[in-house]
Amino acid sequence: MVPPAQAVPPADTPPRVSLDGFLDAVEDAIAVASAAPQLLQHLCECAVTRGGFVSAFIVSPNANVGWLAVEAAAGFQAARLGEIRFLAKEIPGDPWGWVARTWRSGAGCGPHAATAWPALKAHAPDATGLAVALRRHHAPTSVLVLWSEGAPCDAVLLARLQRMGGLVGVALDKLLLEAERAASGQEARQAEEKYRAILDTIEDAYYEVDVRGKPVYHNAAFNRMLGYEPGEMITSDNRVRQTPDMAARVFKAFNEVYLTGVSRRNEEWEYVHRKGHRVQVEGSVQLVRDPHGRPVGFRGILRDVTERRRIEAELRESEARFRALTSISSDWYWEQDVSHRLVRMENRHARTDAFQQTFIGRPIWESQVNLHDGSSWEAYRAMLDAHQPFREVVMQGTLPSGKTFYISVSGEPIRDAAGRFTGYRGVTREITAQMLAEARAQHMASHSSVTGLPNRAMFGHLLSLAIPTARRYARQFAVLHVGLDRFRAINDSLGHAAGDQLLQAAGQRLRDTLRASDVVAHVGGDEFVVLLQEVEDAAQVARAARKLLSAMLTPFPLLGFECRVTASIGGALYPVHGEDETSLLQHADAALYQAKDEGRNVFQIYDDALDSRSLERLALEAQLRGALERQEFTLHYQPKVDLRLGHICGAEALLRWHNAALGHVPPATFIPVAEATGLIVPIGAWVLREACTQAMAWQRDGLPPLHVAVNVSARQFHDQHLLETLQSVLAETGLAPQYLELEITEGMIVHDVERARRQIEAMKALGVRLAIDDFGTGYSSFGQLKNFPIDTLKVDRSFVREVASHPDDQAIASAIISLGKMLNLRVVAEGVETEAQRDFLVARDCDEMQGYLFSRPVEPGAFAALLQAHAAAPPA
Ligand code: C2E
Ligand code: MG
Ligand code: MG
Repeated sequence: MVPPAQAVPPADTPPRVSLDGFLDAVEDAIAVASAAPQLLQHLCECAVTRGGFVSAFIVSPNANVGWLAVEAAAGFQAARLGEIRFLAKEIPGDPWGWVARTWRSGAGCGPHAATAWPALKAHAPDATGLAVALRRHHAPTSVLVLWSEGAPCDAVLLARLQRMGGLVGVALDKLLLEAERAASGQEARQAEEKYRAILDTIEDAYYEVDVRGKPVYHNAAFNRMLGYEPGEMITSDNRVRQTPDMAARVFKAFNEVYLTGVSRRNEEWEYVHRKGHRVQVEGSVQLVRDPHGRPVGFRGILRDVTERRRIEAELRESEARFRALTSISSDWYWEQDVSHRLVRMENRHARTDAFQQTFIGRPIWESQVNLHDGSSWEAYRAMLDAHQPFREVVMQGTLPSGKTFYISVSGEPIRDAAGRFTGYRGVTREITAQMLAEARAQHMASHSSVTGLPNRAMFGHLLSLAIPTARRYARQFAVLHVGLDRFRAINDSLGHAAGDQLLQAAGQRLRDTLRASDVVAHVGGDEFVVLLQEVEDAAQVARAARKLLSAMLTPFPLLGFECRVTASIGGALYPVHGEDETSLLQHADAALYQAKDEGRNVFQIYDDALDSRSLERLALEAQLRGALERQEFTLHYQPKVDLRLGHICGAEALLRWHNAALGHVPPATFIPVAEATGLIVPIGAWVLREACTQAMAWQRDGLPPLHVAVNVSARQFHDQHLLETLQSVLAETGLAPQYLELEITEGMIVHDVERARRQIEAMKALGVRLAIDDFGTGYSSFGQLKNFPIDTLKVDRSFVREVASHPDDQAIASAIISLGKMLNLRVVAEGVETEAQRDFLVARDCDEMQGYLFSRPVEPGAFAALLQAHAAAPPA
């Protein structure tokens, strides 16, 4: 033990230096020291108390290598030594230079007079000092400075002290090493604690065991899973937590991991909870090795799957139960006696109820059921009498509730031990749902889903039955093809639901107008076909067709509108216009086209000349399909003239089609076909791009900017990509949007008002102008118009035509102009052909005119010339 530090003896009785006492004490101190600073302090104290030195202190280099700092001190003014500066390098004139020298060289030195330390000199004028290096790894780490008073300080003393310095250096080495180890051990412990804390937060159970399987660590989830307190499982007996069988299984898995080093996962193990119930887990195990690769234990994760397993088992069970149930549920077991009377009938769940009871005690043909195929019981009874087995005979009956039910019956004869027939036994299955579904599917396959009338397939079938009958009895019949005029327009503007409603109502009218034996089929879109049975001659067919046409004339109430629809009918007569289904249908179809060409509300019977006309339409459609690729379209531009200023203020782009085979085809002919086929969408996009490009080209040529109007058809207007097309055309061509005007018609906005408004508002948001074309021919009212962000109203040509002469037209045109102006719209009159018409419009303050009077639609070059001439023209 280190002797307790004693007080420094009073200065007036100079202490005797006892080197032996000091060195003994140092050896003791070395033996028990646990830390370097403590050892150094003891060293100094021993020097004073046991060695009799006046002062002892130790200096070491601090972080600032230029200085040596006092690390430990005892004796004279020990507490004030910090005020003295010890340089680490000996410089001339430094009274403490000898300390630096020892620090540098490692060699002790002394004695030195106390000149460097005036306070000590004043206290003990004879005091001498010496310095000894304390070395680690043979290099000095610190310097011990000792002051003695009146004692000899010779070379022997210095040599012994120096040896002691080496000893202390080794001890310091060991202490510092231990301190380092302790520090790193603490780090490891901290890391471990942190990692355990993390493990405690995970939801799965985590364990560590040693190589013999003895638990080392369980996380909180593990303890929770088995109902133990933290640490409790480490000390308690492991065997209570697993059955011997399971323990053997787990052992086997661990052993394999030990031998192969390969971890295992998804092991199905079972534990016993502290309260006795079983806990099913899905476990993993991994070998833990020490830094040298030697196995030291195992660790792994366990997941409690008890609940999941329970649910899975329950599911499996209920599924099995369900399967067993369904396989027997609808089957009734029955038995009949020798006379075919039903004597027993039951299924798994129920005895027979009152209704079923009515079957008992009598043969089936005396009950309330019939054979489904409508045949008599004769054959069935003969089969039973012959004791034949039978399968799936379908019968139908009516339940007390009035509902029809269907059953499928199978049976086989029963014979006794002697081989005598004793009756039948069998099963009956209820198949009502299945039969109804089949019937529905059959109806759907043969009837229109919209009108419920027979469809084309069904009609074909009925027609194929009619032909042989008519042939046999030398009769005539007719096929009529009925098309609704303007149906597409109504469908587009009122929406599909209203369109369907119209088709249903129209189909019903056709039905109601005809005899019950006639067939009305809905063969798609707005087309119906009719089979008129047994007709005398073409005149009778015409009478029937006219009845159908006039039945259509009464308006159909739809969404609060009185919708007027007309029909066109084409007819073909068997056998004069065809002797088979295909030619009859084709010829009725050709006649329908002819009827449509002649205008609405027309009946046309087939004649040979028709064929070529329907071919024309087909040819048109075929040519139109490739027209864009072949670059057969061009645009002409018709000027719009400001009626006040007299100059050109806009242009309408009008599509022109020249085809090699068909020549010039007018828009009125091909636009409806393009609409009907959907080709108008790509064609319309081409028109937009071409018109915008042209408008930009004129602007670049220095012509005054003007707005170009482009017609947008209903199909285009409702196309979901219209906005994208508009955006990209404007972006690509660079035309400012206010120079583009889109012409739409009333039909597109009057009905599905909300949808139209959304579309129009989105178009307006792009910055383009909007015009209502052909105003006055549709159903819109000013009341509706004011709700739309429209810029321009184009008064239809039909009102302009007679304005100069007809008072009616004058009144209407004036009203449209003044109301349009009231709504702040720009009013444009279309089709102005005469001076008189123009004068009338000027008088009514109409804003613009467009018509042959000023110019027909012309090619871009001609238009540029017109613009040049009329842009800066003086006011009219
Ligand atoms: P719209 O939009 O009402 O165009 C005006 C029509 O009236 C043009 O017929 C024009 O040539 C004609 N017109 C102009 N001034 C007079 C006149 O003083 N007297 C007479 N009798 N007619 C005049 P066009 O070019 O035959 O076009 C007919 C219709 O075809 C257009 O009627 C428009 O609905 C449609 N259409 C034309 N180009 C396009 C197009 O690019 N896209 C779409 N969707 N439709 C177009
Ligand atoms: Mg137009
Ligand atoms: Mg127009």
